[in-house]
Amino acid sequence: MSPEEFRKYGYEAVDWIADFLAHPERYPVVPQRQPGELIDALPAHGPETGEPMSAILEDFRRLIVPALTHWNHPGFMAYFATSASPPGILGEMLAAAVNPNGMLWKTAPAVTELEQVTLGWLREWIGLPPEFFGMIHDTASTSTMHAIAAARSVASEGDGRLVMYASEQAHSSVEKGGLALGLGRDCLRKIPVDAEFRMLPGALAEAIGRDFAAGFRPFCITATAGTTSTTSVDPIPAIAEIAARHRVWLHVDAAYAGAATLAPEFRWVLEGAEHADSLVVNPHKWMFTPVDLSAFYTRRPEVLRQAFSLVPEYLRSAGHPRAVNLMDYGVPLGRRFRALKLWFVLRSYGREGIADIIRAHASYAKELAALVDAHPDFERMAPAPFSVVCFRFKGTDEENLKLIERVNATGRAFLSHTVLDGKVVIRLAIGNIGTTREHVMEAWRMLSS
Ligand SMILES: *Cc1c(COP(=O)(O)O)cnc(C)c1O
Repeated sequence: MSPEEFRKYGYEAVDWIADFLAHPERYPVVPQRQPGELIDALPAHGPETGEPMSAILEDFRRLIVPALTHWNHPGFMAYFATSASPPGILGEMLAAAVNPNGMLWKTAPAVTELEQVTLGWLREWIGLPPEFFGMIHDTASTSTMHAIAAARSVASEGDGRLVMYASEQAHSSVEKGGLALGLGRDCLRKIPVDAEFRMLPGALAEAIGRDFAAGFRPFCITATAGTTSTTSVDPIPAIAEIAARHRVWLHVDAAYAGAATLAPEFRWVLEGAEHADSLVVNPHKWMFTPVDLSAFYTRRPEVLRQAFSLVPEYLRSAGHPRAVNLMDYGVPLGRRFRALKLWFVLRSYGREGIADIIRAHASYAKELAALVDAHPDFERMAPAPFSVVCFRFKGTDEENLKLIERVNATGRAFLSHTVLDGKVVIRLAIGNIGTTREHVMEAWRMLSS
């Protein structure tokens, strides 16, 4: 592609992006599609010779976009809503253009150093002390797996089978991390929760005591700040105390709700996390950064280094105290320039700008929760401290699932469900940067009328 052609199609792509960002509502949030429909619409064999970019862009608009569930849509209120904010998109575009690989400091100094700078800013904003070392992973699942690996490497001198702990509301990535590390599915003890879905510290202490007495080796506790089903927050100070008493690694999973601490009134969410050994927060969730970008922090980076540093000759580089080689702290060697989009987002909005959007989302959730509480046919199923409201129609599970389906079929909103206390629960999760009060009220009207 000639520079002139790149300029022409580059402008065309940017125009498409700008139009899309201005009017995402032109598209249904969830496409009405059958599995395999796109596969059948595309050629079975790749082209022998190159095709013109105009045709490729046309097929992107005509075939690909209509087959997408639109996460960057203000009506997206399923799972945890995410956003590719305009500054984040620009950062992603430019990172693709320079295409560095930050395997070592030397292979792309800016990749390593901007990662340290942006994660340093973020560390301060979420209230962690300076000794926490930060690095970027693709997802919280990968971050948590590294936390469990580090926990295991400091515990493995002792004998006894390794066991770890998380609440029964913890994300499945904790169990999967154990699975990936070969610890076995039954290495996770699922600790019961209170009526508001928070881990019971008394039950945790009991389980650890029981395991020690039976000859197991407790090695890791994951506390969740903002669980995936209901956004409940485990009592981190009490859990940290138990972890310290038994010398067990404490990991805090704040993938979603960690972002809320950018607003001072939500600082309580990570109270006690300063005692953790590691923590994960996902800027790609509620911090308006395009997927993927997970921030992993640990106060014991030397443990990860011991567990993961393995330097073949062709990667050996002259040591300098400020030249960090991030490949030494985890599994991946190659490293995308993810920090660039985060830098664009953090600078463009500033802490207060991000906090204002988070605050607005939380206020819509509060208003919705009050409407649910006031409605005779609906009941709320969990507290709504952030931007997620869990509620149900006072009817059967089937009726609740039908209600969600009916709303999703309009293409105006996308909701998902969870199961709490054995019942199907509607879960409305606000988090896209374009979602306004009106989008939330429209979804509620569709549900309640
Ligand atoms: C979303 C979520 C995860 C998993 O995040 P990925 O980045 O998709 O791996 C883990 N923990 C919690 C609490 C989450 O909400």
